[in-house]
Formats: sequence, C-alpha cells, structure tokens
Amino acid sequence: MNGLMQQHDLLISSLIEFAARYHGDTEIVSRRVEGDIHRTTYAQVRSRAKQLARALDDFGLERGDRVGTLAWNGYRHYELYYGVSGSGRVLHTLNPRLHPDQIAWIINHAGDRVLAFDMTFTPIIQAIAARCPKVERWVALCEAQQMPAELRQAVPGVQSYEEMLAGQSDEYAWPSLDENLASSMCYTSGTTGNPKGVLYSHRSTVLHAYAAALPDVMDVSARDAVLPVVPMFHVNAWGIPYSSALVGCKLVMPGPALDGASLFRLMDDEGVTFAAGVPTIWLGLLNQMQEEGRKPRALNRVVIGGSAAPASMIATFQDRWGVKVRHAWGMTEMSPLGTACALKNKHLELPPEQRMAVQVTQGRPIFGVDVRVVDGQGADLPWDGASMGELLVKGPWIMSDYYESGQPSPLRDGWFPTGDVVTIDPDGYVHIMDRSKDVIKSGGEWISSIELENIAMAHPAVAMAACVAMPHAKWDERPLLVVVKRPGAQVTASELLAFYEGKVAKWWIPDDVRFVDAIPLGATGKILKNKLRTQLIEPASAGA
Ligand code: ADP
Repeated sequence: MNGLMQQHDLLISSLIEFAARYHGDTEIVSRRVEGDIHRTTYAQVRSRAKQLARALDDFGLERGDRVGTLAWNGYRHYELYYGVSGSGRVLHTLNPRLHPDQIAWIINHAGDRVLAFDMTFTPIIQAIAARCPKVERWVALCEAQQMPAELRQAVPGVQSYEEMLAGQSDEYAWPSLDENLASSMCYTSGTTGNPKGVLYSHRSTVLHAYAAALPDVMDVSARDAVLPVVPMFHVNAWGIPYSSALVGCKLVMPGPALDGASLFRLMDDEGVTFAAGVPTIWLGLLNQMQEEGRKPRALNRVVIGGSAAPASMIATFQDRWGVKVRHAWGMTEMSPLGTACALKNKHLELPPEQRMAVQVTQGRPIFGVDVRVVDGQGADLPWDGASMGELLVKGPWIMSDYYESGQPSPLRDGWFPTGDVVTIDPDGYVHIMDRSKDVIKSGGEWISSIELENIAMAHPAVAMAACVAMPHAKWDERPLLVVVKRPGAQVTASELLAFYEGKVAKWWIPDDVRFVDAIPLGATGKILKNKLRTQLIEPASAGA
C-alpha cells in the first residue's frame, strides 16, 4: 500500500524561493574584488537569479548545459548558483588555484558553454580562452565600464555580467525538473592523474543541505550570520550556499580577502556567529585574534575540515577564545559532508584530555551516510577505535560514478572507497589517520602522518608541520618531520623529537626533522606531500 502523501521533486530553486519568501530582507554581504562591501538580500538574489535564467535562455542554453564559474565567494557567484541550477542548467565551479592548463582541460572536458569569471582571474581567461573552443560566451562578473580594453581585445565577445542582466525581466517561473537531474559539478584536484568530474543532482544537493544544517552538523539557524571561508569554487563551499537559504541566515562572503586581518574585520563588522574553513585559514585568524587580544565580537563556533584539525587549534579556539569547534570530514565525491564531531552527553563528563581525544576525530556519520572500515582484502574491520583500514561510504549524496572518465565506476558493491585510512570507535566516531597514499609504511606497520603532524603543531615553536615517508633500506619507509618555525622561535631537531616521547609508540617517532621556510600547499589549502617528498628526497637520504 502506498502512502497518501504528495510527491514533490527536491529542487534547488525551492531553496531560494523559500529564502526570498520568508527571509526576503535578510542580508547577503560580500567583500568584492574591488575591496568594497556590497549588500543585497535573499529577495534581490532571487530576482537577479531569475534575470540570469532569462539571459541564459536568450543564449540558447538547453537543460543540462554547463555554465562554468571561476569566482570567489560573493553575491554574483551566489546568484549564479541559483540562476544556473534553478533553470535546469549545470553550474560547474572551477578552482582558480589550479594551473591554467588544468583549468582549460577541465573546461573542455566538462563542455562548458558559458564561462563566468571574477576580474581577478582575467589573466587566466586571457591565457586559456583560445584553447576552449566550446565556450561560446565569456562573462566578466562586473559592470560594463569596469572591463579593461585588453580583455575585450584578448577575448572577443566578452560581456559583463551586469550588461547581461540589464533589461532582463525577473518574471520567470522556475521549471519543474526531475530531482535526479544534474544541478552542479566540481572536479577533484587531480593530485593523482587527471581531475575527475563529480556531478551532483538537485536531490543530492537538497538532502545534503538539510543534513548540513542539523544541530549535530553545522547547527545553523535564521538567527546566525554565517561566513563560509571555504570557497564556493570547491565542493560548493561545503553546501553552505544551500543550507543558508534553507534556514534563512545572514550570509557573509569574504571575496578574495582570506588573510587573518581581513577575515577578523569582516566577522567583527558583520556580527558573524559561525564560520567554516580549512585549518590553514584558521591559523591566520587565530594569529590575528592573538594580536588583537580578542575574538571577532559575535563569533561563537567554527567548523574545521578539509584537513585534520590539530588538538592545539581546537583547544586555542575553545579554551582561549570561547569559540566552539566542530571538526568535520567530507570530500568532493560526496557534496561533501560525511561526518561531524558533535559530542554526546557522556563525553561532556570526561576529563578534558579524553574529551579532546574525541574532538580530534572527524566525528560520527551524518544520517544519510553509511560507513565501513575494511582491510586490504575488503573484509570489515572491528569498530574498536584502533584497527586501521580504508573507509568506504554509501548514501544518497555520494557519487555513483565520475563524469565521463572512461573508467569503470570506482564503486565496490555499491560502496565508494574514499582512499582515507581510518579507525572507527564503538560509537561510530571516524578518525582519519591518513590518505592511503600518505600513510607511512614502516616495517609492514602503518604510521599516521596526521597524528605526528598534530603533535608537532602543539609545540609552541612550530607554525606548521608536515610528516612524510622517506625511503629506508630496512623498514621500507620512515617518518621525516618537516617544520616551519614560528617567527623568532628557536627549537632544535632533538628537542622536537623529544617532544614525541610518551605521546606515541617509540617506533612512530620521526627519524629526523627538516626545518624549511615554507611547506607547499595545494589548490584546496592542503599540504602537497608528493611535492614535499620530491623536494626532500635526495639519493643520500635513503637511510641504512
Ligand atoms: P582534494 O583535496 O583532493 O580536492 P577533497 O577536497 O575532496 O579533495 O578532499 C577530500 C579529502 O580531504 C578526504 O578524502 C580526506 O583525505 C581529507 N579530509 C577532509 N576533511 C578532513 C578532516 N577533517 N581531517 C582529515 N582529512 C580530511
């Protein structure tokens, strides 16, 4: 017997309709590339997203056609999120930190017909335009008079976004779409081989938006002012552009100004209560807070994800500044949130050290995400908080295949292998020990590079730390610690190695420490271990 409930497709357009109707005057504040602050509202975003949809109709874009974006977090990008997907086209966000060759490759692979870009990225556009024959329209996210003459010369037919919207009516009925249609796409960073395209659907996006807003995940409400530091060009800023409309919170977008001082000022001025970003961003903000001797006035919680949050960072936010930290894990292949570390009542009674041991894990699965941990043969490992294996995931916002990769689907019996090495505890808290390619294999056993990095980060002289596998004749691989010192700090290799005593098994302690000026970071703010390893490995370093 079927239920007698109505059947409605879950559509992205319904999110902006909801926000415009019930939170129409709630502000969306953006720092623009020009440096000034711009203010709009959900009602105005809906209006302009509809104008955009009409302009795309005029361009002759069909359902399913791709519109690429190379843009920071800002209101025009936000309008594209809704105008493109809402009208049945696919929003393809591109990561501008990738090499231009890779960006051109991705645009061609995705078959983008329109490409909208912030003025900051004009040099990239000039370099790649001639190599992207499928792009029919180049749209600069600015006023017509802001477009430099050389851009018009280099990219014939380039148009400004404001020109494109001007004169379009905002009378537009969002199409009724099948919720399983593609709504947006994002390519993985391609640290291993060519980037691979992930194609999200309306259904997966709306379900994820609900889940991400839950109290034990991001915990956002209409009373919040939310600042996604995490970029809208990578995995849809962890779904915040959608969850914010779903709850109707104020949205504050930092544009290109991601340094600690600019973030602090914007958060302070706009009364930001909640922000989300990767650990490298928080290092900058924490330094600024230290300098100012206070936190941005209304900030009360942050989500940290993308890379492991060190205990020292969590403790500084919480104990020094009274800002609650929620650690979270996810990936491009899954919209992206998979787990979030909300404590249970029983954890609140634990002594601080044991509570922190829970907080450094990436947390428990969100309803909608199933997890398993398996050994090399695919057999399930116990959830004992100690057995390390690969994490597999399954659920309605997890990818079933890459977009036209020419390879068979990576799924194993319906489960997506994440490539992350984890332990899971009896309560289901997942602890990421490493990516499988970064784990250090010493004498047949695994050493977690993340764990070693987190310990080093707790040392007062360490600004940033990375741990990489070095080839070793007897043990195959041994850990080498690479450290950037804090300005003016003094510390020796042996002092740092002594710092590990009693914190990990003896054989986990790195063999040596290398001090460097900078650690290479990838396009999503993560340490580029491959690059670091090649920089460090000289033939002489293969120990005996
Ligand atoms: P890429 O960085 O290759 O573009 P993603 O942005 O999709 O890929 O990153 C996903 C990966 O980032 C995960 O598979 C995991 O290795 C890592 N990651 C994400 N969140 C965390 C976290 N909180 N702690 C440790 N690693 C994390």
